[in-house]
Amino acid sequence: MIHDQANYERETEDVREPLLSEKGEESVDVGADSPLPDDLTRDELTLPAPSEPEIARHYTRLSQMNWAIDAGPYPLGSCTMKYNPKFTEDVAADPNAAVHPDRSERSTQGTLELRYRLQEFLAEVGGMDAVTLQPPAGAAGELTGILVAKAYHEHRGNDRSEVVIPASAHGTNFATAATAGYDVVELPSGDDGRVDVEALEAAVGDDTAALMLTNPNTVGLFERDITEIADIVHDAGGLLYYDGANLNALLGRGRPGDMGFDVMHYNVHKTFATPHGGGGPGAGPVGVVDELAEFLPTPQVRENETASGYERFEPEHTIGKVHGFAGNWLVLVKAYAYIARLGDEGLADAA
Ligand SMILES: *Cc1c(COP(=O)(O)O)cnc(C)c1O
Repeated sequence: MIHDQANYERETEDVREPLLSEKGEESVDVGADSPLPDDLTRDELTLPAPSEPEIARHYTRLSQMNWAIDAGPYPLGSCTMKYNPKFTEDVAADPNAAVHPDRSERSTQGTLELRYRLQEFLAEVGGMDAVTLQPPAGAAGELTGILVAKAYHEHRGNDRSEVVIPASAHGTNFATAATAGYDVVELPSGDDGRVDVEALEAAVGDDTAALMLTNPNTVGLFERDITEIADIVHDAGGLLYYDGANLNALLGRGRPGDMGFDVMHYNVHKTFATPHGGGGPGAGPVGVVDELAEFLPTPQVRENETASGYERFEPEHTIGKVHGFAGNWLVLVKAYAYIARLGDEGLADAA
């Protein structure tokens, strides 16, 4: 890929000279009727005055300087990668996909239905009971999930001070726990790169709010002892947090909820379309088991009582909002389109 990028740069170098010629400039008289003080205005503004083909060539040239899916794959980092199909971009570019978020519930039933169905899709994929779509990235999803876990413990009058994280974990896990006000307990990996179950038993106790785990972990190994790990954490009264960055590996084949996880985030820009390279935006929905659903961010979407439509509602002990409106909406539209197109079998094939 690095090789491709170098080639690409060489090939595009010769189209990089500026196309807008100096001689095409035009002076516009701008100062005359300005209400601004004289020392803040100027009399002349020199603007380029290129011809129409020159403008078309200028912007085409700029577009060719971008890395694009038609020029090669989007490379990025430690998380698992997936194919970024173009049809999801078409769906998100449909003007009907982007309604103003301040419009009434009655006039945005389609949008609410899509939100509801995506919540349900993600809950099904993760083996969770309820999902919020609001967090705008995986890291934001982590913080949301850990704040939900914290609200759960506090609500039960059982405040805890520590979050346990394996040394192999992504840096955002440590940052999340610290930002949520927890002390981080770092768990050394075993010789084989997986969680050392004995070390975990020693680290977990009455102060453990949660264990954060990626599975397969960041070195690509499946944590085979996951049900034993879950029992150890649950027996101590802690919760199990699933970092969903590597969920691709499990799609349609295994579910974090079935492994014993209580709360998780989905990096939909890693698992369900939306290119991840290039700086986003992404989205980091969070799924939880029933016991945690009443703490999710507000608003959630549900079928209304007559079941002939959809409505927003506020979970009873919500932690509040973590993002404006419905989160990074068009990223969520792409995730919905991707899951709907692939279906159960397609998702398992993608894994
Ligand atoms: C990418 C990643 C994150 C953070 O997700 P963002 O969506 O980039 O904020 C967290 N954990 C792991 C293991 C990751 O690979």
